[in-house]
Amino acid sequence: MIEQEMDFENRIVSPDFNGAQDEAELTLRPKSLTEYIGQDKAKENLNIYITAAKQRGESLDHVLLYGPPGLGKTTLAGIIAREMGVNLRVTSGPAIEKQGDLVAILTSLEEGDVLFIDEIHRLSRNVEEILYPAMEDFSLDIIIGKGPSARSIRLDVPHFTLVGATTRSGQLTAPLRDRFGVLLRLELYTPEQLAQIVMRSAGILGIAIDRDGALEIASRSRGTPRIANRLLKRVRDIAQVRFDGVINEKTASAALSLFEIDELGLDDFDRRMLETIITNYNGGPVGLDTLAAAIGEEAITIEDVYEPYLLQIGFLTRTARGRCVTKLAFEHLGIPFNGKDGGQQSIF
Ligand code: ADP
Repeated sequence: MIEQEMDFENRIVSPDFNGAQDEAELTLRPKSLTEYIGQDKAKENLNIYITAAKQRGESLDHVLLYGPPGLGKTTLAGIIAREMGVNLRVTSGPAIEKQGDLVAILTSLEEGDVLFIDEIHRLSRNVEEILYPAMEDFSLDIIIGKGPSARSIRLDVPHFTLVGATTRSGQLTAPLRDRFGVLLRLELYTPEQLAQIVMRSAGILGIAIDRDGALEIASRSRGTPRIANRLLKRVRDIAQVRFDGVINEKTASAALSLFEIDELGLDDFDRRMLETIITNYNGGPVGLDTLAAAIGEEAITIEDVYEPYLLQIGFLTRTARGRCVTKLAFEHLGIPFNGKDGGQQSIF
């Protein structure tokens, strides 16, 4: 039996799981748009904007990428920089604490560089204010001194492309969102696309796998490439120790059962959340904050990490009055259905 701590940080199917953060993630990152699997709409748009900017010899307009964690936002920022032939600077909203931190970053950029700010919705208002003129006019308004002798000076910064990433664009303040020229929404991947990603990663890591094995891992990866790559590595270990080393449908399925990840990719966390709604709130509706308190998890984590997949597979619905569990989820959990289908409630 494999011990798995039931806190969020250690959740194997969490896109933010830290235990497996290793260099392999870097090696597995696609380096060009052609290598980047899926997200066809976003890719097509980006391709046009990149080509047009290159033809005009200009920097690319600022890009906002939004979607759940682990879908390839950082990867896309890297690809944009590479395709534009410029440097990539990576930082995140919480890492930029003071205005001075951002000024230091912006003034050290070279012409055309891509600045990637992950979790951009977490920038403080103070810092955001510096960003507005920088994004719009490529200049900074800096106040020197205090009180009556304070004066403002204007500094030019190189033309750069800001690539911002956020889990939901709604979390951004309107003035910041309005300054992005390109807004791209990343979607959860289909099992077929994830199987392609798994096959590609297995090729890079030298892991023996067949197509059915890849599909088995893919269908339990919650639509998320980061989870698919992580499961691939964990399944390889089990296939090596318990089987003949080759990952096929049988070995993948056996390995994933050991991790208590079911055939739809749900783990203990998901089951606990769905069961709580069913037993404590009669299947819903239950408000997000009430649910968060009942399962001891932050509301924002439920919204950004658990829910997107459960909504996608039709196990959960969001109604004006709260979250509801659907008939499908009752059936999956083997709990007799109470006749109140969340899916129906959201429609009527
Ligand atoms: P995010 O920034 O959205 O959290 P990342 O860009 O860090 O996600 O992607 C996580 C991992 O998933 C990357 O290391 C990469 O290997 C893989 N990945 C993401 N998107 C794709 C894709 N479209 N094709 C292949 N691999 C991908």
